[in-house]
Amino acid sequence: MEQRLIFVYSNGTPVSEHTAELLKTKLEQSGFQPTEEYSENVELIVCIGGDGSFLEAVHKFDFPRVPFIGINTGHLGFFQEILPEQLDEFIFNYAQGRYSLQPMSTVKAEVDFGDAKMYYRGLNEIVIKSYNSYTVHLNISIGDSFIERFSGDGILVATAAGSTAYNYSLGGAIVDPRLRLLQVTPIAPMNTTAYRSFTSSILLPADLNLGIIPEKETEKIRIAVDGEEKYLENVKSISIGSSNRTVNLLRFQGYDFWNKVKTKFL
Ligand code: NAP
Repeated sequence: MEQRLIFVYSNGTPVSEHTAELLKTKLEQSGFQPTEEYSENVELIVCIGGDGSFLEAVHKFDFPRVPFIGINTGHLGFFQEILPEQLDEFIFNYAQGRYSLQPMSTVKAEVDFGDAKMYYRGLNEIVIKSYNSYTVHLNISIGDSFIERFSGDGILVATAAGSTAYNYSLGGAIVDPRLRLLQVTPIAPMNTTAYRSFTSSILLPADLNLGIIPEKETEKIRIAVDGEEKYLENVKSISIGSSNRTVNLLRFQGYDFWNKVKTKFL
C-alpha cells in the first residue's frame, strides 16, 4: 500500500514540539506516515507555530506546490487554520477529504545590477527601503508609463495574502485573497512643494509590473522580502510583479476569510 507521507514542521517552541509529538502519534494511528524530512513525496506540510514560522517554512522549502496546513501556537496566526486542541478533528476531516485548497498568489522582484540579476519571491510583500535612515529617492513606473519620483522611507508591494500584514499597519487596504492583484503602499511618502509622491495605496492588476529606478546609481537600498532584509548596492533597476507560483493552504468547512479578519483585527 502506498505510504501517505505528511511532513511535520515545528518552530521548536515547547508548545509546538509537544503538539508535533502528539500529532505524529495521532497521524500514525490514522494510517498516515509522519516525517520530519521534507521531500517532494510528502502530500501535506503541517506547519506548527505562528505566521512567522509559516513564512519561514514557505521560504525554506522554496514555495512548494505541496499544500500547507497551519497549527497556531504563535501570536496572531492569521494563516494558521487550526488550534492544537483540534488535532483529531483535523485528521478526520483531512482523511475524509473534507477540505478545499486556498491558492495564495505571490510577488516577485527582478533586481538588475547591470552585469548581474537577482530574483526574489515573497508571499506577503516585497519592500524597497533606504539603506539607512535617509530618504530614498526612486523613479517609479507602472507598465510603460513613468508615474512619479518617490521620496520617503520606501515602497511596499503586497500580495492579497500580505495585505493584512505590514501593508495594513501602513494604512493599506485589506484585500480578499481571491483577488489576484498587487497593492503598492508608500512608506512615509514626502508630499511637499519640493517632493511629490502618492500618499495612498495603488492597486495593480496581475499583468502589470512596477518599475523602480533609484535616482542615483550609487544609491544604496534595502530589500525586505517577507521581513527578511538584504542590503543592495549599484542597483540599476527593479521590476516587481505578480508571480505565477501560488502557495496552497488547506481550508476546512466553516473557513471564511472575512470572519477571520473580524476575529483577528476587531
Ligand atoms: P514579526 O515582525 O515577528 O511579526 C509580524 C506580525 O505580523 C506577527 O504578529 C505575525 O503573526 C503577523 N503576520 C505575518 N504575516 C501576516 C499576514 N499575512 N497577515 C496578518 N498578520 C501577519 O515577523 P514575522 O512573524 O517573521 O513576519 C514577517 C512579516 O512581518 C512581514 O512579511 C511583514 O508583513 C510583517 N512586518 C510588519 C511590520 C509592521 O506591521 N509595522 C513591520 C515589519 C514587518 P504571528 O504572530 O502569528 O507570527
